[in-house]
Amino acid sequence: MTQPGGESNVSLGPFTVYNHKTGIYASRLPPPKVPLTSVYDFCLGNVSFDDAGAAITICSTGQTISYGQLKLRSQQFGLGLLTKAKLKPGDTILVALHSSIDFAVCVMAAQFAGLQVALANPDYARRELKHVYNLVKPKKVIIHSTHLGRAAAASIKTFTVVLTDTKLGRGGVLSIGELLADEASAKAAKSYMPGDLNTTAYLPSSSGTTGLPKAVQISHKNLVSMLSMNLNIPGYIPDALSGEQLRVLTFLPFFHAIGLVGQLHLVLKTRGQLFILRPFTPDSLCKAVPEHKINMIGMVPPALTKLMKHPGLSRDTFATVKNVRCGGAPLDAETEAKFLQLTGVEVKQGWGMTELTVAGLDASSGQQTPGSVGCLIPGTLAKVVDVSTREPVEPGQRGELLIKGDQVFRGYVSNPEETKASFTEDGFFRTGDIVTVDPRTGEFSIVDRLKELIKYQGYQVAPADLEGVLISHPKIAAAAVVGRYDKENGTELPCAFVELSVDAQQQQHLSKHALAEEIDQFVRSKVSHHKFLRGGIYFVDKVPVGASGKILRKDVRAMLKSLEQGQ
Ligand code: AMP
Repeated sequence: MTQPGGESNVSLGPFTVYNHKTGIYASRLPPPKVPLTSVYDFCLGNVSFDDAGAAITICSTGQTISYGQLKLRSQQFGLGLLTKAKLKPGDTILVALHSSIDFAVCVMAAQFAGLQVALANPDYARRELKHVYNLVKPKKVIIHSTHLGRAAAASIKTFTVVLTDTKLGRGGVLSIGELLADEASAKAAKSYMPGDLNTTAYLPSSSGTTGLPKAVQISHKNLVSMLSMNLNIPGYIPDALSGEQLRVLTFLPFFHAIGLVGQLHLVLKTRGQLFILRPFTPDSLCKAVPEHKINMIGMVPPALTKLMKHPGLSRDTFATVKNVRCGGAPLDAETEAKFLQLTGVEVKQGWGMTELTVAGLDASSGQQTPGSVGCLIPGTLAKVVDVSTREPVEPGQRGELLIKGDQVFRGYVSNPEETKASFTEDGFFRTGDIVTVDPRTGEFSIVDRLKELIKYQGYQVAPADLEGVLISHPKIAAAAVVGRYDKENGTELPCAFVELSVDAQQQQHLSKHALAEEIDQFVRSKVSHHKFLRGGIYFVDKVPVGASGKILRKDVRAMLKSLEQGQ
């Protein structure tokens, strides 16, 4: 990664350099040395089969897998996927599992075998699962038996379903147990090394700046570079650990970038121990932290907000914790300050996206103004451009954040138009986030969002997805979905503006209250939990659309604002 040079460079604080001529920001920290290797070898290559050190523990049951077992199981299943299930390197499998030891075994097995791993939320409703399935066209789908009915209903029939929790499958359904290669062959087998490290390793979902969820191509190089970049930030793994093993508490889903890369792969790479807390409750977290001597926790703002209301949160509970990381959605300075006061631990914010493997900005580098998301991570370049002219704005002014770096994804599967639209001509990725950069410190703050995306509890909600469901209701002619911020719970809530069909409008007897209830139930029957219309349903005479029929979201947001002001 070239850093901007020449006399046009100025330092903004200790970590950021800005070039006035090009408008490019860069980290002053040296870019990492990135090993030319695969995800599997990077994370488990040096692990020995005899390594009895615990890798992953389930907090509620104490079930633990050691590094040696994780490596052996991954190789047995990986080799079995090639030899018994007859997959070939480059084939895609879809993993739709909750965070678990099985999840880790399945994805590491697939990485061992050189497969592309598409990821889906196991709680997806039938139509959502079908959407991902049609996008990535997997050869095998790996789920828990409790989700078999949903998978069958989503027409996942033509490909084999692999269950993680039964000994023997039946008719088109296999179990992991049936696909394990024998130990000796698995130990002797070599992991697949892609000839080109730009080969896809993972396919998580993201809606990007517009439209329906898309499959994001994350390559081996992306992931290995990402972890190398993070580990190159001096305070990322707190100095205070000084040799102590990393003990990370996670309750974030592994099918999302933060759980997958920022926690699971980070812990495996550093030979730490990962503690899975499911389900998350403030009470269970306050018990787990001292019990397992947790020293690092990954948070999203709504969980942090919830935790802060818990009476058990104290300096004592957090005595072993050296690092609380928070990202995925905005977190204000006030909450950060209060958390520090309650626990004695500073929250380190980070900003990232699925399309950036996980991160682009991070506050670990020693300094952080509360509320900001820190500075560029090493090896990453940024520009901040005016949303209309697309020209760089000066530090301090608002503009869209553009990012370049080896962690930036390769493109969306089978969607060259969206891929092209996501990049500028000079190769920067358009994030759709509006930021400012502090001219004194070089720290970035996320101040608004240009794109459609709504984030509920850190989960992505694509308005286009909900709008598609809404207009399939017979009484609805048009619909627009936007996010409403719920300060009390620290999250956005999807809220719908609905234009009734002419027929429905003429039925004077219809009560708006009953109709809203009917629409709410209709949506709940078709989407997963995090997409429910918790922000409300409002009836309008006309959903504002432009000449091309595109929803004018700015106008919809203005409608929401005036409604909120009237309340
Ligand atoms: P995802 O791809 O699900 O990780 O979502 C990425 C989006 O989440 C970003 O483009 C932002 O809009 C939002 N986001 C992530 N981290 C932060 C943060 N620290 N502050 C504000 N928004 C954030």
